[in-house]
Amino acid sequence: MSKLIIHRGTREIGGSALEINTDKTKLLFDFGIPLESMEKENYSLEDYKLPINGLYREEKQMFDAVFLTHAHPDHYGLMQLINPDIPIYVSKITYDILLKVVPLLPKNIEEKLNLRIIEDEIDFGDIKVKAHNVDHSVAGACAYEIQAEGKTIVYTGDIRFHGRASWQSSVFKRKIQNPDYMIMEGTTLGRTEQEIVREEDLEPEFIKIFKSGKLPLVQFSPQNLDRFITVYRACLATGKTLVIDPYTCYVLKIYSPISKSIPQFDWKNIMVYFAKSTISDKLAETKELFRYKSKKITIEEIIDNPEKYVIKGNGVINKQILNKLDRDKISIVYSMWKGYLDKPGQFDNYKDIITPLHTSGHAYIEDLQKLVEKVQPKNLIPIHTECKEKYTELFNSNIIELDDGQELNI
Ligand SMILES: [Zn+2]
Repeated sequence: MSKLIIHRGTREIGGSALEINTDKTKLLFDFGIPLESMEKENYSLEDYKLPINGLYREEKQMFDAVFLTHAHPDHYGLMQLINPDIPIYVSKITYDILLKVVPLLPKNIEEKLNLRIIEDEIDFGDIKVKAHNVDHSVAGACAYEIQAEGKTIVYTGDIRFHGRASWQSSVFKRKIQNPDYMIMEGTTLGRTEQEIVREEDLEPEFIKIFKSGKLPLVQFSPQNLDRFITVYRACLATGKTLVIDPYTCYVLKIYSPISKSIPQFDWKNIMVYFAKSTISDKLAETKELFRYKSKKITIEEIIDNPEKYVIKGNGVINKQILNKLDRDKISIVYSMWKGYLDKPGQFDNYKDIITPLHTSGHAYIEDLQKLVEKVQPKNLIPIHTECKEKYTELFNSNIIELDDGQELNI
């Protein structure tokens, strides 16, 4: 008999961890840190440990493998606690982000990890796991299709159908047919705004703002490749030069194997502002930073000709520009989840010049309904949602609402 246990994620967004086991094999999918940790200055990974036997460093190994869906901390954040004898499987891009990008960040990975790249399918004898690439707000995301003792279980991870890689989610949707269980994320179920905004829809909006004559400070995550491409394309369309930081240059390099069309720091209409930060210091240690020297721009050059530039914001450059330019010459474009603005930050006194321009990393309800309609799972299990009770009214399938830690025989 196989079992499914969602250790965390049945009533919250983030911190996901779910286990599928048979008598012989034990697998874990995702091992994230809850999003509330982001609001804390100081916390220990131990604070978020889950009661899962045979997974941790100090314990006798009982798990055969761990699979991560993508490189967001609410899906990988606790992986350092995992016994290094247990392999952790990820996609090639997730592997590069976790090993080359995440170590630059303030809360970095100190422990050695047993990360491996999942090429296609892995066979454990009585369980087979297959990865399917899907579209999400970080590149390299995948869903998993698990065959366990004659039953098929699909775990979507975080998924959407409106980014530049939406075709990957569509291929996934076509390939999966009639699984016994689909464990599906429902992040957007609690959100009131359901107007479908696609990544491409943002480009004309950026162009409008870039034409306004003000210096745009655009806030977005460097790991959000889609957004980088959108902002860069809007710069090309308006003849602006995009000023980025060394961290963004480096992330673009990590993404470069995905496609030759991913812009790099030495492309036209890109300059680099050498923001002093712990990340720049780390890039200097490896000499990476010096590669960007030929494209260096100073704050004075920007201030002297603000109409020429668009700034990819970061804490350091935002502060410089807000200090040196009058507020009526600046427009702040907030291209991240608006909820982050509720926390105190450097834009507290600038709310009147902020324009939100964003699209979610998660599928809209309508797209989730189409997914369920096409895939026709025999049973649908909510995860990564604050609204599991809404699945019954929204989706045409047999809904199994689990609680964290509850065992389901499958
Ligand atoms: Zn995510």
